Amino acid sequence: MDRQQQFVLRTLEERDIRFVRLWFTDVLGYLKSMVVAPAELEGAFSEGIGFDGSAIEGFARIFESDMVARPDPSTFQVLPWEADQGKTYSARMFCDITMPDGTPSWADPRHVLRRAMGEAAAMGFTCYVHPEIEFFLFKDLPQDGTPPEPADRGGFFDQASHNVAPHFRRAAIESLESMGISVEFSHHEGAPGQQEIDLRYADALTMADNIMSFRYVVKEVAITQGVWASFMPKPFVEQPGSAMHTHFSLFDGETNAFHDAEDPYQLSKTGKAFLAGLLRHAPEITAVSCQWVNSYKRLVIGDEAPTTASWGQANRSALVRVPNYSPGKASSQRLEFRLPDAACNPYLMFAVVIAAGLRGIREQYELPAPSQDDMWALSDVERRALGYQRLPGSLEEALQVMEGSELVAETLGEHVYDFFLRNKRSEWEAYRRQVTPEELRRYLTL
Ligand code: GLU
Ligand code: MG
Ligand code: MG
Repeated sequence: MDRQQQFVLRTLEERDIRFVRLWFTDVLGYLKSMVVAPAELEGAFSEGIGFDGSAIEGFARIFESDMVARPDPSTFQVLPWEADQGKTYSARMFCDITMPDGTPSWADPRHVLRRAMGEAAAMGFTCYVHPEIEFFLFKDLPQDGTPPEPADRGGFFDQASHNVAPHFRRAAIESLESMGISVEFSHHEGAPGQQEIDLRYADALTMADNIMSFRYVVKEVAITQGVWASFMPKPFVEQPGSAMHTHFSLFDGETNAFHDAEDPYQLSKTGKAFLAGLLRHAPEITAVSCQWVNSYKRLVIGDEAPTTASWGQANRSALVRVPNYSPGKASSQRLEFRLPDAACNPYLMFAVVIAAGLRGIREQYELPAPSQDDMWALSDVERRALGYQRLPGSLEEALQVMEGSELVAETLGEHVYDFFLRNKRSEWEAYRRQVTPEELRRYLTL
């Protein structure tokens, strides 16, 4: 048993932890959990815990359903908000999923990301990321298709002290921090009920785990405050949706490989090639970054969401921004990718972004000129004339582009790629058959 595993066993005993939750993520980004007694953990570390993979969305075909969850001791955390009077603590660990013979499961999103990070490592890079996570707080969570009621009436950066939002953010941040997830920044976002919490950077795998924990913690804390949290990409027609802007940088040892003090954007050759890769492959990786039918309601002109593959410095209509909050600070040079929404699978999204960027570096893509234009002020025709590549406008379009993408197929691996396309096609078909209230309103008098 290694030192980390010993540490876990010792902590379980010292803190009298009764339940250990073993977490993993399915292909669509849902968090899965098995609870084991502490006495089982020694065995779990040496042999893993077997389970029926065919019961998990996208994991296994029925004839190869046995899978094994292997807890990763480096992710061990006591769950703070569960510490009740009776000293019943629980803890969690993320798992890697393998086949019974110990080879990694091709369906495990953690494995997909590990592979992409391995490619970066082979080129000498570690990838660091930090997300800005937006979400809504609602007073209720109606299941009958009626709109929910926002928990507050605040707007961008509002300090509205007479409602639940500031209390909620404080409680959520305390819980996150006590789990070792550092929060950098938080504020009220543009829409009523909408919040944003930005996490401090970490390597991509740690951050994907952190985002899964984040969504869980935020929902739990919301319940304790009498409200509901939702990461749905676009709940209201008239309000902006919830993004998960993510900042990416590559480090070569201690050096930020994206930084060049001499460049007007302080962006190195490597940074430019990565950015060029991201721009060129953006339409292919849109389905993974924005994976729900509803995601595309967010990607419309005027709500600070991107609609074309463009880049800029201050331009908030661009797909990628090169922020310059701290000019000259080499270590903080990064690219802000503004496409993903708050309900994507972070493991898969990070994997395709890293793959697109590395492709740009390997093949030395040329970076197009930055867009000075306010993309939202231009017509479709103008945008095309200026050479901006349009992003897919619906899940169907995004899937079509993804179907032709050798980059995404290679990055996700055949199993995840096929499952994702099949599953999302059927989501689209189910949606296509719907007759919506908007159609009735418009067409009933025909
Ligand atoms: N909520 C906006 C979106 O859906 C982003 C707002 C911002 O710039 O932070 O993309
Ligand atoms: Mg924001
Ligand atoms: Mg942002």
